[in-house]
Amino acid sequence: MPTMIAARLHAYGSPMTLDRIEVPEPRPNDVLVEVKACGVVPNLARVVSNFFGKLTPDNKMMPPLPAIFGLDPAGVVAKVGAQVWSVRPGERVYVNPSRSCGSCRMCRSGQPLDCPNWTLQGYFGRSQDIMRAYPYGGLSQFLTAPASALVKLPDNLGFEAAARLGYLGTAYAAMKKLGVGAGRALLINGISGQLGLNAAQLALAMGATTILGTGRNQKLLDRVKALAPLRIDTFAAGDPPAPGSGDPLVAWAKAATGGDGVDGVIDCLPPGAPATAMMRALYCLRRGGAAVNVGAVMDMLPLNAFWLMTNRIGLSGSVWFSTGEGEEMAAMAGAGTLDLSALQHRVSPLSKVNEVLAGMDDRDGGFTNFVIDPTRIE
Ligand SMILES: [Zn+2]
Repeated sequence: MPTMIAARLHAYGSPMTLDRIEVPEPRPNDVLVEVKACGVVPNLARVVSNFFGKLTPDNKMMPPLPAIFGLDPAGVVAKVGAQVWSVRPGERVYVNPSRSCGSCRMCRSGQPLDCPNWTLQGYFGRSQDIMRAYPYGGLSQFLTAPASALVKLPDNLGFEAAARLGYLGTAYAAMKKLGVGAGRALLINGISGQLGLNAAQLALAMGATTILGTGRNQKLLDRVKALAPLRIDTFAAGDPPAPGSGDPLVAWAKAATGGDGVDGVIDCLPPGAPATAMMRALYCLRRGGAAVNVGAVMDMLPLNAFWLMTNRIGLSGSVWFSTGEGEEMAAMAGAGTLDLSALQHRVSPLSKVNEVLAGMDDRDGGFTNFVIDPTRIE
C-alpha cells in the first residue's frame, strides 16, 4: 500500500506529530486529492488545546483521536471513485470541508448547511459518524472527500489564495443574504481581520458602492482603505462612548450615507470582542436594514426588542457556505473581479505545523494568510 505523511493529534493539548499512514482509497462517490496548500485558521490553536472539549465535556463535537486537522485544503485530484463523472484526475480544486448527512429533511430540501449533523471535515462538528467517514484534514499529503464538495479552481487562482476560501466563503454567504450590490452601503464590523478583509474584497467584487469598516489598528485600517479609496472608508472604533452621549461611529456611518444609515452590517468581530462593540454596528443600520453575524462575539447582546421591531431591523447568524457559492467566488477570481492580491501568503512546511500554530498572533491582521504546504517536510 502507498503511504503518506500526515500531521496527527494524539491528545488534546499536545503537539501534533508527523505520522506515516496509508493513502486512503476513494469510495465510489469520493475523490482522492493530493493537498498542495492548507489554510490554517488562528482558531485551530484553540481547538487542538481542547477549547471546545471544555465546553462540551463529552467531547462529541471533536473528532476521534488520532485526528488529522486542516480546514481549508486545496490541491490536485489524484484519483476518482467509480461513480464520479464530472471531475477528473489532474484538476485543481479547493475541498469545501462542509459535510452533511445527505438524507435528512434539510439535506433533502437542498439546505445541507442546516443539516442537524453538519460537520466540518478536518475541524469539528455535530456527527462522529461523518468525522469517522472523512477523517482526513488538509494537514495531510492526501485526503478523500465527496466529489460534490470540490470547487474547481481557475488557472489564475493559486493554491495559497484558494486556501483562504473558508474565510472568503463565510463572508460571501452572509453578504449574499444581505443583498450586497450596486447602490448599497455595507458596514463591515472588524474590517481589518481575516474575515473582515475578505468581506471587503468580496464587497468590492460584488459591486457595493459604499463600504464602511471598523477596526482598532489605524495602520491596518489605512491599508484596507487603500484597496479602493473611493469606495472604502474606515473608522478606528476605540472604546464605546459614555452612556447618554452620541456614538461618533453611528454619526460617521449616517454622514457617509446621506443621513440614513447603512443597508447592511456584517459582523466579523474576533473572539473576546464585547457585545457592546456589536451593538454599536447595529445602531449604524438604516430603518429596515439587516445585519448578519459571522463573528465570534460570545456575550449576550443588550438588544432592545422594541427597538428591533420599530426600526424593522433584521438580525441573523450565518456559518460557512455552499460549494456552489465556492464556485461563484472561484469564477469571480477567474474573471479578475475578485482581487485577492493583497493577501500575504505565509507558507510553511508540514513539519512546522506546531510552530505555525504557536505563532499565529504575529500577523498583519487579515492580510497574513497562514498556509501549510504538506508536500514539504523539512
Ligand atoms: Zn442532513
